[in-house]
Amino acid sequence: MGVPRGMLARVDAEITIRVADELLMFLPAARREPVRRVPYDGTSTLGHLVESLGVPLPEAGPMTIAGEPVDAATRTRDGDEVRVRAVPRPQPVPLEPGQVAPRFLLDVHLGTLARRMRLLGLDTAYHNDMDDPALVVQANEERRVLLTQDRGLLRRRALWFGAYVRGPKPDGQLRDMLGRFAPVLRPWTRCTACNGELVPVDKTEIERELEAGTRRSYDIYGRCGRCRQVYWRGAHGDHLEEIVREATRLVADDRADGAAEGRAGGSDRAGAAVPE
Ligand SMILES: [Zn+2]
Repeated sequence: MGVPRGMLARVDAEITIRVADELLMFLPAARREPVRRVPYDGTSTLGHLVESLGVPLPEAGPMTIAGEPVDAATRTRDGDEVRVRAVPRPQPVPLEPGQVAPRFLLDVHLGTLARRMRLLGLDTAYHNDMDDPALVVQANEERRVLLTQDRGLLRRRALWFGAYVRGPKPDGQLRDMLGRFAPVLRPWTRCTACNGELVPVDKTEIERELEAGTRRSYDIYGRCGRCRQVYWRGAHGDHLEEIVREATRLVADDRADGAAEGRAGGSDRAGAAVPE
């Protein structure tokens, strides 16, 4: 009484998946190898296989089988050799007409990153009390890139556009985000508290609201059109100036690199409007 031979062959069947170094961090520590052989079950899509390794699909870049480009919906076959790359950097985000930079939504654990992104003028929604389904709804409705360190959140099928933020601290997280999207920055134009846009103010107009010392030493640059908070530069100290300087330099470098590659490859990757 033996098992039919066809059955045996199926059980033994395998697919080879080679994962980019940048994605190894998503694999369980005990199986963190660039080449993995996984059993072939006869039905799984490539996207399902990639996620079963631990890589959230929004983090998976171009995929190939035997060198041919494929997508996540492709059904794999016994013996396939799959290659999964990281997302390109900078990663294009579909923009609406007139929109110069992506909009973002940050999960509840990324409050400091949210304030720094607003400092740089990026439209960054953040609430400290939103659950996962609510985050997905807002990201999709407002076409915001959802930034998170929650891999489960990135696995939600309905999510329009998500990205995993690398790094335990805000400095590294900001560098990671800037390197990934190289967004157009408009420092000092947005309220760090509520994400409202700042409107210019006449210093004399609000003098009476300010302490005498403030009036003499600080340079007022705007008032939040939403929550009325007044912003002046000297009050922040050099720390925020330094964040802005560093971020501006990073993005200028990334965009210059992108433009150079675009010229070499005959395409314009540096443009703000990128096709889907
Ligand atoms: Zn505000």
